[in-house]
Amino acid sequence: MTGPRLRFAPSPTGFLHVGSARAALYNWLFARQQGGELLLRIEDTDEARDREEWVEGIFEALRWLGLDWDGEPVRQSTRAARHAEAAATLEAAGRTYWCDCTRDAIDQRAHAAGRPPGYDGFCRDRGLGPGEGRAMRFATPTSGATVVHDLIRGEPTFDNAVIDDPIIVRSTGKAMFVLANVVDDIDMAITHVVRGEDHLPTTPKYLLLWEALGGGELPVFAHLPMLVNEKRQKLSKRRDSVAVEEFRAEGFLPEVMVNYLALLGWAPTDGRERLSVDELVREFRLTDVNSSPAFFDLAKLRAFNGDTIRAMAPDDFALAAGPWLSGPLDPRLVPLVQERVVTLAEVAPMVDFIDAEPVIDPASWDKAMAIPAAASVLERAADAYQALDDWQAATLKEALVAVGESLDLNLKRAQAPVRVAVTGRSVGPPLFESLEVLGREVTLRRLQAARARLG
Ligand code: GLU
Repeated sequence: MTGPRLRFAPSPTGFLHVGSARAALYNWLFARQQGGELLLRIEDTDEARDREEWVEGIFEALRWLGLDWDGEPVRQSTRAARHAEAAATLEAAGRTYWCDCTRDAIDQRAHAAGRPPGYDGFCRDRGLGPGEGRAMRFATPTSGATVVHDLIRGEPTFDNAVIDDPIIVRSTGKAMFVLANVVDDIDMAITHVVRGEDHLPTTPKYLLLWEALGGGELPVFAHLPMLVNEKRQKLSKRRDSVAVEEFRAEGFLPEVMVNYLALLGWAPTDGRERLSVDELVREFRLTDVNSSPAFFDLAKLRAFNGDTIRAMAPDDFALAAGPWLSGPLDPRLVPLVQERVVTLAEVAPMVDFIDAEPVIDPASWDKAMAIPAAASVLERAADAYQALDDWQAATLKEALVAVGESLDLNLKRAQAPVRVAVTGRSVGPPLFESLEVLGREVTLRRLQAARARLG
């Protein structure tokens, strides 16, 4: 017996949405654990919206997540002849008719019957032949029911009488999505269709087409729950962060992303949340995926990422942060920064004052310099640091404690003006280690510049 054959079938119309990535992951986990195959099909038949760079982006994002696929990716656009052939087969079998209803007429009829716009259920075979402005529709049965066998949702059943007759070939001669999707799945011998629940309403048409085309044994379905934000709204690219590429650019780690995506609709029986890829392959159960919407919890994803960063070996962390930095990070700062960031993109703003003049953050400046003693702190710190014998975090701290005491300030208050003077901000890695790395000359220069700026 051969293993299951699955496919991930994205449309290249934008960045890879986290919902699509989750679908890719579930397909991948199931295929790998069952010794099956995962094929990749690019559904690039929407000329107005598809772009080649999005196709490349999909490959790149899947590779980054570590989700590989079997064989060459299939381009749906190269299969137009097969789609036309399938349409001809259906026509020859008397399963189609030509229709010249305009969109407006269809929507008006739907409106009059209290149906949503786009409902084509009132088109019927009027004996038209092919011709200008005519599209080919697939005649769905008018009685009986169509049952979807879904590993997650049981057996959603659709009354055939309310299934509209989908257009399968446009008046331009081009196959519609629903036909291309079915024909490709038949030809690719797909056994399991794992995809978002937004496709469930068209699945009965898919099944009817599959049967009409003599596709053989029907695939099993798993319609995955939609992703929602904290307001229980469907994730939207206008409102929410949804692009895998964006998470990558912000410095989320791929293994964290995979771990988090896996939990969007599924959890291991013991409720563990942190799982390696190997554990996911072993423990994931497609049949245990929930049908209710999954909350995409950014705070939780961030927490996973921060935990994972802190658990890394410092060398690995420095290596991982490399692409976000203009130069190597001083080894003395690595563990200090590592403890304080949640994403890799946060590293650069935290340490950029080391190699470049600090950009003074006005809010930090106003707050730190508000105390009357700020000017004295800067002056006395500069004097003390000038006189220091050994330039080390511990001695730098001791000296500033003494400066504070001389002005009746605790260390926290004495430190604030120094930190902003030297780093430009009120938050960052520990101050004295930073000064140690920065060196005496630069530190003194910045303290004096800040004193001058204070007037
Ligand atoms: N191309 C469709 C999409 O990106 C997927 C269709 C399917 O998986 O059957 O939503």
